[in-house]
Amino acid sequence: MRLLAWLIFLANWGGARAEPDTKVYAALGNHDFHPKNQFPAGSNNIYNQIAELWKPWLSNESIALFKKGAFYCEKLPGPSGAGRIVVLNTNLYYTSNALTADMADPGQQFQWLEDVLTDASKAGDMVYIVGHVPPGFFEKTQNKAWFREGFNEKYLKVVRKHHRVIAGQFFGHHHTDSFRMLYDDAGVPISAMFITPGVTPWKTTLPGVVNGANNPAIRVFEYDRATLSLKDMVTYFMNLSQANAQGTPRWELEYQLTEAYGVPDASAHSMHTVLDRIAGDQSTLQRYYVYNSVSYSAGVCDEACSMQHVCAMRQVDIDAYTTCLYASGTTPVPQLPLLLMALLGLCTLVL
Ligand SMILES: [Zn+2]
Repeated sequence: MRLLAWLIFLANWGGARAEPDTKVYAALGNHDFHPKNQFPAGSNNIYNQIAELWKPWLSNESIALFKKGAFYCEKLPGPSGAGRIVVLNTNLYYTSNALTADMADPGQQFQWLEDVLTDASKAGDMVYIVGHVPPGFFEKTQNKAWFREGFNEKYLKVVRKHHRVIAGQFFGHHHTDSFRMLYDDAGVPISAMFITPGVTPWKTTLPGVVNGANNPAIRVFEYDRATLSLKDMVTYFMNLSQANAQGTPRWELEYQLTEAYGVPDASAHSMHTVLDRIAGDQSTLQRYYVYNSVSYSAGVCDEACSMQHVCAMRQVDIDAYTTCLYASGTTPVPQLPLLLMALLGLCTLVL
């Protein structure tokens, strides 16, 4: 019998309460620091204090590492002991972080990740990667990348090189429900990156976003403890409008991946199938679009909307994403005016 376990992802730590004996692998989000987004590439008092708070969940090695750069690696529980979880501090790569803008490898996190993945490969271990701010583009508008360009390239290079030991990648930050695909040069799907919706609702004011709000959600993954292969993904949600009207929150099942999209599991191959169906079938696209806002938006995803979402899901690489938008006939929004608007205080570009 296959040994299965559950991994629960909460995109925003502030909403989480764990039982005393539950092992938690927490990642810092861009608002978990003051001043917000300005995460340093080296030791500081906030990393030290958080390492003390999270001590029950961290090994001594992870505590020492966390104090230097807020990233770490832990063994996953399981009979084989062959699973690892890498928690990254991707706030170091965020476009809104001025402290790391000119650095090649802030905190030497890329070098560390490379070393961990090489070591896992030699040991025959599989790895999950977790972070808050994701690489690639926000799917609800055009040309909104979170990583600086050089960091996006570097991250993809490391992940492509070591994809055979990476069993899944998990990020938050968007507050929306989506995913990203990585392909090799022959177009074969090699990795899926899951964007987990937020416990906290967020009505984005980013330019180009139509009705950008989400209901609160938490997500549970079912996985094989020996191989770390992802078997299924279940999302629970709370209808916030209903909760406000009734005065009581009610958490309920939103959807189960395998049932909703008719795929056998949550592997990269299956997620590629899901993406193909979203791109090619209007009813699947509409279903995805409702889930994207955690069943908040009842709007219709038209052709331009479809291209924005599909290009963001299919292309994490910056040049390939831009080519996808042009090829699909939508007109990419130039980035400079957005920057100028932000500098003038006319819009908010941070989460
Ligand atoms: Zn965030």
